[in-house]
Amino acid sequence: MIRSSIALLSLFLAVPPLRAAELQVSALHPLLADVARQVGGNRVIVHDLMGAGTNAHRYEPRPADLKKMQDSKVILAAGKNMESYLGRLKDTMKHANIVEVGRTIPSLTVGKDVVYTCCPQHGAGAIDPHWWHGVENMRRASRVIADSLSTADPEGKAVYQANATAYGQKLEQLKRWAKTELAKVPREQRKLVTAHNAFAYFAKEFGFEVIAVAGLTNEQNNTPQELAKTIESIKKAGVRAVFPEEGYNEKTVRSIAKTAGVTVAEPLISDGNAPGHDTGFEAMIRHNVRVITTVLGSK
Ligand SMILES: [Zn+2]
Ligand SMILES: [Zn+2]
Repeated sequence: MIRSSIALLSLFLAVPPLRAAELQVSALHPLLADVARQVGGNRVIVHDLMGAGTNAHRYEPRPADLKKMQDSKVILAAGKNMESYLGRLKDTMKHANIVEVGRTIPSLTVGKDVVYTCCPQHGAGAIDPHWWHGVENMRRASRVIADSLSTADPEGKAVYQANATAYGQKLEQLKRWAKTELAKVPREQRKLVTAHNAFAYFAKEFGFEVIAVAGLTNEQNNTPQELAKTIESIKKAGVRAVFPEEGYNEKTVRSIAKTAGVTVAEPLISDGNAPGHDTGFEAMIRHNVRVITTVLGSK
């Protein structure tokens, strides 16, 4: 008995203890949590506050999240008005560096004619917050994150910069792969009709067009006139398929597709919200590219 306890004890001792100096980081977006882990490696503890299965446009920090932010030196936000609560958060989290990671990434604007938008604060004409769907954007973001970790933990600077460089190379490869795959889609089919207005940055990077339609989710109550307009614009665009999204109700999109005579594709992953899938940025991009090329890429 004693012998086995000693064996057990030596096993414990073989596991290196958590270093007290580990930097705690809170991320207000699941994709930022992923990239912070890539860049921070084992020097950081990353709290993914939102987690899987939460609508990013509805999320507000809960008491347990505030506790984790209290323990964090760095708090990563997406920026571009994604976090409507950010002003209040800055007032209460004065100890931490709150970084709006997407702040310096060139913005796209939600089209004036877009009827269906993600939520009230990102309506027609507003800044489109969805920069995290762009691969090049995420490469830039990983640099911003490396810099903010370096400021909070100067001893780790070389590690963070090296990790960001390695991750950036991985994203370069990802982008090349995505370009090659998406080039299989005939030019006239490079159009995305999706459940919420999340894919403008992705579309711009890979030469697709986002077709703005109303009523693809059950999140807003569309009038019969709006639905008729939606079906008309799908027909006019000549698209082969419409794309539901993980986490959004598919009922409306199915009935619209049926009336318009188009296929319903496998759901895309938007905003990193993908319960039941591999999580993280790279997995999201790979999934979406595969879904799009499967439906639109064949002759
Ligand atoms: Zn929104
Ligand atoms: Zn969104």
